[in-house]
Amino acid sequence: MNKRILVTGGAGFIGSHLCARLLNEGHEVICLDNYFTGAKSNIVDLIQNPKFEIVRHDIINPYNAEIDEIYNLACPASPIHYQYNPIKTIKTSVMGAINMLGLAKRVNAKILQASTSEVYGDPHVHPQNEQYWGNVNPIGIRSCYDEGKRCAETLFMDYHRQNKVKIKIIRIFNTYGPNMNPNDGRVVSNFIVQALKGEDITIYGNGSQTRSFQYIDDLIEGMIRTMNTDETFTGPINLGNPDEFSMLELAEKVISLTQSNSKLVYLPLPADDPKQRKPDISLAKEKIRWQPKIKLDDGLVKTIEYFKKIIR
Ligand code: NAD
Ligand code: UDP
Repeated sequence: MNKRILVTGGAGFIGSHLCARLLNEGHEVICLDNYFTGAKSNIVDLIQNPKFEIVRHDIINPYNAEIDEIYNLACPASPIHYQYNPIKTIKTSVMGAINMLGLAKRVNAKILQASTSEVYGDPHVHPQNEQYWGNVNPIGIRSCYDEGKRCAETLFMDYHRQNKVKIKIIRIFNTYGPNMNPNDGRVVSNFIVQALKGEDITIYGNGSQTRSFQYIDDLIEGMIRTMNTDETFTGPINLGNPDEFSMLELAEKVISLTQSNSKLVYLPLPADDPKQRKPDISLAKEKIRWQPKIKLDDGLVKTIEYFKKIIR
């Protein structure tokens, strides 16, 4: 059955892929964005579709529409962007969640929250499963994002328990792919852009910290499957690729795939930078029969092709 679906943050990296996929499935899509980190260029190809609608709106203010589902993605995701105006970041997470949950409650829509592996902080449990409560600094420079997202999870659970709102919480682990902003500041886009321009590759710290990188198409499949689970399932559910790499390994891969002459430079490690991260995806395998299909090398090749087109 075709639905009317609201995607907040729809002009961003993940949101633009989600809008495209939902339109392909025949749904009506309202893309809501304030363009803080997103771009119209990410969604320009969708504009001729009569089922696609764009609204410039900031989710810290209420919004009304008759919709069946909400994917709440609006929030800067890169440390440099979410630390640019930390008070705005936490307002987006918390007031945005309240506004979108209020809308879901009024129109009886199902709502999915894009939460994050950052709720686990600098984890003492490895790999991270959904039962782990995390190790988050409440007063550091990452806290506006981490605690904002944790508070949003609390709000989602409380609207569900108190008002019976139909919710889903996904915890997204580091995701990459086309439509990332070249100035985004996250590691995959930084390394690829630096390698393609022949600039130094910036390793923060000694590069031994690890992340697990998921290609965008795998995430979108997992998001839609989670939205379609039965009403009793709320999550949180981890969506990520369990293959774990150090930043040095990532840099070597990017240099080799781009055949770049770039050299590595070592810069100070930002405060509270998690030392390791890897999802336990047992729950996703069981509940949504999902696991990532795209290996890092294959995803990097597709992402490098994209950046070659936009930065040259
Ligand atoms: P992004 O920065 O590309 O997209 C975020 C979008 O939200 C942008 O289009 C931005 O303009 C918009 N936005 C920001 N504040 C807004 C506001 N107040 N009102 C309306 N729109 C606003 O980031 P992304 O990687 O696409 O991330 C999307 C969501 O997924 C975020 O909520 C992020 O926290 C979450 N997430 C992403 C990752 C990842 O690796 N990409 C990992 C974990 C969680
Ligand atoms: N990082 C790096 N060089 C860069 C950007 C990031 O070494 O140019 C490191 C960063 O310190 C972190 C990892 O890469 O350990 C992932 O950083 P990103 O900002 O992509 O995501 P997050 O820290 O939120 O997982």
